[in-house]
Amino acid sequence: MSAIVSGDGTQAAIDPALEILRRVYGHDAFRGPQAAIIDHVVKGGDALVLMPTGGGKSVCYQIPALLRDGVAIIVSPLIALMQDQVAALQQMGVAAECLNSALSLDEMRVIENRMRQGKLKLLYVAPERLLTPFFLNLLRQVRIALFAIDEAHCVSQWGHDFRPEYIQLSALHEQFPAVPRIALTATADRETRAEIRERLALEDAEVYLTSFDRPNIRYRVVERNDAKKQLLALIEGEQKGEAGIVYCQSRKRVDEVAAWLSARGIPALPYHAGMDQAQRARNQHRFLNEDGIVMVATIAFGMGIDKPDVRFVAHLDLPSSIEAYYQETGRAGRDGAPAEAWLAFGLQDVVLLRRRIEESDLTEQRKVVSRRKLDALLAFCEATDCRRMALLRYLGEDSQPCGNCDICLEPGETWDATLPAQKLLSACWRTGQRFGVAHVIDVLKGNATEKVTRFGHDQLPVFGLGSELDVQGWKSLARQLLSLGYLFVQNDEFNTLGVAEQARPLLKGETQLMLRRPTVSLGRRDRRRKDPLLAASLGDVDAKLFEALRARRRDLASAQKVPPYVIFHDATLREIAQRRPQDLDAFLAIPGIGERKLKRYGADFLEVLAAYR
Ligand code: ADP
Ligand code: ZN
Repeated sequence: MSAIVSGDGTQAAIDPALEILRRVYGHDAFRGPQAAIIDHVVKGGDALVLMPTGGGKSVCYQIPALLRDGVAIIVSPLIALMQDQVAALQQMGVAAECLNSALSLDEMRVIENRMRQGKLKLLYVAPERLLTPFFLNLLRQVRIALFAIDEAHCVSQWGHDFRPEYIQLSALHEQFPAVPRIALTATADRETRAEIRERLALEDAEVYLTSFDRPNIRYRVVERNDAKKQLLALIEGEQKGEAGIVYCQSRKRVDEVAAWLSARGIPALPYHAGMDQAQRARNQHRFLNEDGIVMVATIAFGMGIDKPDVRFVAHLDLPSSIEAYYQETGRAGRDGAPAEAWLAFGLQDVVLLRRRIEESDLTEQRKVVSRRKLDALLAFCEATDCRRMALLRYLGEDSQPCGNCDICLEPGETWDATLPAQKLLSACWRTGQRFGVAHVIDVLKGNATEKVTRFGHDQLPVFGLGSELDVQGWKSLARQLLSLGYLFVQNDEFNTLGVAEQARPLLKGETQLMLRRPTVSLGRRDRRRKDPLLAASLGDVDAKLFEALRARRRDLASAQKVPPYVIFHDATLREIAQRRPQDLDAFLAIPGIGERKLKRYGADFLEVLAAYR
């Protein structure tokens, strides 16, 4: 089929776009609003595109760039991102370059000349360079196809990626009013969206908003008991040999976890802002260019990491908010293949985060906001229904149970926690709200410790009343009560627990409390085989053949000094391993293989297959 018909029945102007998608990119069909966006921009319209990471934003400006006359100018905040994009385009045979501070003067001159001669289709450039008089002058001498403003949320002063130069990008519209502009971001929230429109003078732009759901990411939250062991079970189990990121709160913990994993034979590397620049760059380079590296990092790592085949993102500590969590986990599975977001959390996190807010010197108003954000995050962690629904609800989207999170997959039981909760609350109350969790649990378990007897707490009616749960069970209940706001952490140095006003009806027996039994899953090694979703993604792929294909890809990539994924994604290699094409025609039929890559690599990979037969 060579033409498609648009919704209104007319022969759409999308045909050439679809042809490019197939011939250059090797993809069969557009996804979601891609076709509509491309059509709009090709015709000269402005667009604001809000799509999650991995949603396929790049083709929304790249294909219009190829279809319109002149050179497209892509503004992007990070050199690494630009270089990846340009390498990927060049692999497909597209005339793309980027101007950045890493280039010599001569190299820059060559690029400028190609641009003047109309030989360049896409030019990536950092905002500060774009806005120099020299560059603006250069732009006036050439024909510009469009301006694309990637990572457009960098214009928002309230976001964490704020780039002051982005604000000045509205100048583009004033100086080149006839050139269409397309701004793109994966940041969903309403305020940022409004800010982008206003600051980039895109009030009249067509807005394309897609769901922020990342259906290929499986969300899993476990109760932490032995964090490192739980993590190791994940990495040696279903994520064996895969690339992943492990986030920790502190630099010290990063070093410790990375060393611990390494000692157990996992190729783990540390990354945090306290390391020297060269070592950090080396570790990042290995993560991008080798297969199966586990990066243990603080949140200093990730911005601008475009690696599409990160298979898991693990959090050993609670992230700072749902927004942060969504952004951090969003780095998994950009290629659309199954990926996992795994979070381990425990009582200590809740105590610490609650305390940090109370002790901060934020204004009361900001504290209210911070508490609300933390509550939302804890509600996600303690959810009794679908995790994805909780996340999307927070982002303002309604959805149905997803079937791809721990709760949907292993619903577990909910149990009536009313009575134990009453006991725990009452133990806090009766000990004067002056003690931490450990002491309160001692009282409930009837441990006549020195402290318990000194304060006469062995005389209390709640003493020894807590036989129904073990210590871990009581801790877990305390955490849930803290998360849900029945308990709070007093503003003192001992993390003593206070009973919140909200607990009154529960204590009086006027309400019931249903909780979900926490999973302390250590990760199941055989899940790959049993899990239909994962099994489908791996298909009947022969692991040895897959590795042989990977090795060939690695050689080809290192010879050209590009990351392996700009040659082929893992998903493409998997398809090759599964279909085992015998000739170039069959090879071209594989998703992700366009004409140029067929020419460049077809023979190479057919050779690997032939040797394997
Ligand atoms: P984003 O910039 O939104 O994070 P990308 O543009 O990098 O996403 O695309 C994410 C992945 O989806 C890439 O691997 C890309 O090749 C793939 N992709 C994009 N559009 C399509 C499509 N129409 N069909 C198949 N794969 C696509
Ligand atoms: Zn779910």
